[in-house]
Amino acid sequence: MREQLALQIDPASQAEVLPEAWQADPLFAARLQAVDVAAYGRSRNHLDGAVTGLSPWISHGFAPVPQVVAWLVRYRGLRARHKLAYEFAWREFFHHVWGQLGDGILESVRPGLAGVRYAPELPASVREARTGIPTVDVAVRTLYHSGYLHNHARMWLAAFVVHYAKVDWRVGADWMLAHLLDGDLAANHLSWQWVAATFSRKPYLFNAENVARHAPPEWQCAGTALDADYATLDALARGSGRMLFGGRGGEPVSEPPPLACPPPALLQAGDGLPPCIEKGRTVVLLHPWHLRPPARKPGGALVLGVVHLPFHRQFPWSAQRWQFVLPRLRRACDRLFVGDATMLALPLAGRRVIAERVRYAGYREVLPALATELRDPPRWLPDPPRLCESFSQFWSRYGPEGRRR
Ligand SMILES: Cc1cc2nc3c(=O)[nH]c(=O)nc-3n(C[C@H](O)[C@H](O)[C@H](O)COP(=O)(O)OP(=O)(O)OC[C@H]3O[C@@H](n4cnc5c(N)ncnc54)[C@H](O)[C@@H]3O)c2cc1C
Repeated sequence: MREQLALQIDPASQAEVLPEAWQADPLFAARLQAVDVAAYGRSRNHLDGAVTGLSPWISHGFAPVPQVVAWLVRYRGLRARHKLAYEFAWREFFHHVWGQLGDGILESVRPGLAGVRYAPELPASVREARTGIPTVDVAVRTLYHSGYLHNHARMWLAAFVVHYAKVDWRVGADWMLAHLLDGDLAANHLSWQWVAATFSRKPYLFNAENVARHAPPEWQCAGTALDADYATLDALARGSGRMLFGGRGGEPVSEPPPLACPPPALLQAGDGLPPCIEKGRTVVLLHPWHLRPPARKPGGALVLGVVHLPFHRQFPWSAQRWQFVLPRLRRACDRLFVGDATMLALPLAGRRVIAERVRYAGYREVLPALATELRDPPRWLPDPPRLCESFSQFWSRYGPEGRRR
């Protein structure tokens, strides 16, 4: 990839070619083709900036990072030191950490701020977008409405929940994860920990001035409790009190209920029944983190999509995330199974079964039990054998121009 990123654009390769699988998803294709790397570099921190909006497809393995990067190198002139390459590397870093710490990412990686007590529940005023602080209320409404938040808005919301409302980062992380279309346990929970200072050296804080620089008018919070200097907010974050808010917000919104299984409208007769599979037939198993159809399908293979419900009982999803994932999974497959995937052990026994590994609990155990060939998901950057403690260490050693490549 170092070679690819250093590549000079060849005028002969300028005619854009989009892989067939990507063309089949017009929304993804449009977003990819709209990427403007120069504008991204200039504006990505602004809520109206030229961010890509590709994360739902990346998180669900429809468009793996190495393929997206290769396409952007070729057709958009992405370079190794570009901000966008750096952001893709953050994703790879978080997944490296997940690989090293496993379920340890669900607990504080470091102790965090000494002596601070965090509440075990999200206040109703945050959950219902009625804190009276527009930055927070608009973020919550946007999250529920679209399943997407700009990175800066995610940081503000997380910082507000943890440092000003004094809620346990894990509670906030689980809540946000349930509503994001791109919900990714590593990127989400480690980002919350980064904000909380349990995966970084200091708490991430923000104030009204920071919002004023990066957000449109309806997000502004001048004149609220966030209109304070950083020393004051730091003292609040490290102290025993919490910010006073609530009561002045607009109409409360209801949180869309996270669902432990797909809404009935997305299901078809037979989805809950294990399929009958002819002896000798190869099976390719797809799942919610592997939504792309196999590039080279073994002759006559059955492509079987699996939604393993025990996982989703632990980490339920919003209806719109199901709406994003299920039709795409169905489209990539010949058959879909929605249920407890251990029920597939018998129909798959004795067959060649190919699947891609995932680290989500439940899937993590059941896929190796069913598959005879388990493949690693494609990575852009190396996955070092020992834990890289920080992103800068990871980037300098294993980034596209890293010393250890
Ligand atoms: C509190 C918090 C929670 C987050 N939760 C998630 C999550 O559940 N899933 C998720 O994919 N990202 C998460 N992120 C990271 C980041 O906010 C999103 O990846 C990004 O906003 C997605 O929008 P985009 O595709 O327009 O990003 P762009 O800015 O266009 O970036 C392109 C791609 O790079 C990757 N990327 C960009 N920024 C980051 C980052 N900081 N960390 C990791 N990868 C990044 C994503 O794959 C993204 O699609 C979280 C960040 C914070 C602060």
